[in-house]
Amino acid sequence: MPGRERPARPDGPSEGTGTGPSGNSTGDTGDAGARENTDTGRRPSGPAHAQGAHMTQPGPGVMPGLEPPTAPGPEGPAGSEHGPAGGGHGPTGGGRPAAALRPQLEVFLARHEEELVAFRRDLHMHPELGYDEHRTTARIAERLRLSGLEPRILPKGTGLFCDIGPGDGPTVALRADIDALPLQDEKEGVPYRSTVPGVAHACGHDVHTTMVLGAGLFLAQQAEAGLLPGRVRLLFQPAEETPGGALDVMAAGGIAGVDRAFALHCDPRIEVGELGLRSGPITAACDKVYVKVTGPGGHTARPHLTADLVYALAKIVTELPSALSRRVDPRSSLSLVWGRVSAGSVANAIPDDGVAEGTVRCLDDEAWHRAPEMMKALLQSVAAAYDVEASLEYVRGVPPTVNEAASVQMFRDAAAQVLDEEGVVPTPQSLGGEDFGWYLESIPGALARLGVRTPGSPGEYDLHRGDFDVDERCIPVGVRVLAATALTALWDGGRPADPETVEGATLA
Ligand SMILES: [Zn+2]
Ligand SMILES: [Zn+2]
Repeated sequence: MPGRERPARPDGPSEGTGTGPSGNSTGDTGDAGARENTDTGRRPSGPAHAQGAHMTQPGPGVMPGLEPPTAPGPEGPAGSEHGPAGGGHGPTGGGRPAAALRPQLEVFLARHEEELVAFRRDLHMHPELGYDEHRTTARIAERLRLSGLEPRILPKGTGLFCDIGPGDGPTVALRADIDALPLQDEKEGVPYRSTVPGVAHACGHDVHTTMVLGAGLFLAQQAEAGLLPGRVRLLFQPAEETPGGALDVMAAGGIAGVDRAFALHCDPRIEVGELGLRSGPITAACDKVYVKVTGPGGHTARPHLTADLVYALAKIVTELPSALSRRVDPRSSLSLVWGRVSAGSVANAIPDDGVAEGTVRCLDDEAWHRAPEMMKALLQSVAAAYDVEASLEYVRGVPPTVNEAASVQMFRDAAAQVLDEEGVVPTPQSLGGEDFGWYLESIPGALARLGVRTPGSPGEYDLHRGDFDVDERCIPVGVRVLAATALTALWDGGRPADPETVEGATLA
């Protein structure tokens, strides 16, 4: 996904990030190096940096087993109604078992972190493209069943969802995407390199899947202990890059009855241990447009007796982007950029048809909805002036992902419980696309960016590159954040909050 100063991926809306100068490995992707730094890096330091009673808890980077947590076992809400230790950073509202959450997470991670890292590596070695994620789906389902859960596979055979906890309260969804990209894995020196030629988890979806699985397993334990005040639905969505898997999930009833949805996306621009938040739009829409112009054609000596199609097409190509920019709020950053223009074959004949193809990117949901009609009207008016016929094919990609402020606040409250105080950072809107936006057209929710870069590592990673990798310490961080966010949202009753009360949540 996302990133500042990154070109949008040229061929599609999905999590977009330019393909970048690929193949230019910066050599800092090795997992071994990342793990060696485990106990020395400034970050992630996790709860150990928080104040008060939890100073002895291991941070996210502490390997399982090295420092036995002193956490209490699961306990009832009645026995744990104390705010977290992070003076003023804890969740608002009373009656939450917040103090117990962090130690419980540490106990869970001490037992499961190694397994989760191995799970991620297994997916990484066996990446599958959109709608072909059969092995991935089977692995996830198998692990969920092992914990007594009952996953439901989507009708097309890949992707699944799974409910945890009682259905009589609010329902919160945690979403992961499970597909890989048609790229060659160019990483050197890691044991978990892709074994499938030309396919790689270069957008971090293996990590997303692992984190949602980990959070799910933890929440299932909470549910068993009677600590889940509602239901959590794990969504393992196929084909995000295609894109369109979100629509399959929705068609299968995947968000029916869901009050809020949350997702994390790996961000190689921020450090492991950090969470990037933003209210409002966080990714962009990306659609494709195909314009076809036709006229009678004729001799270039007599344009007045026919319709000068090439001239008209040139007018359309230049007028449409500028007219559009004057018809919508500039803050929506609606931009039409042509990628292909074609007409004619010889110097002295006016052709009878021509085409222009391009993409529309847009940061604003309302402008995105209005774009097709507006463009059609503008096209007709320019074409009419030059007496040519013009038609428009407008192909929808994904809508912008528009984060609800209250949901962002829930991420923030959750991070205050389980991350370092400096763990939350503001993040810019990306011109890339992300099909999580489809869910947020129907229900409130938020997508946050999870830091995956090893602190101090040189070089630039980017998504959608053959050498993309993560610092695997992001996995327990993501599990903590997702589990705490789901619980925070359930504690808040899953209801849309009064926007007035979350004004402070707006980061950008
Ligand atoms: Zn992607
Ligand atoms: Zn992605």
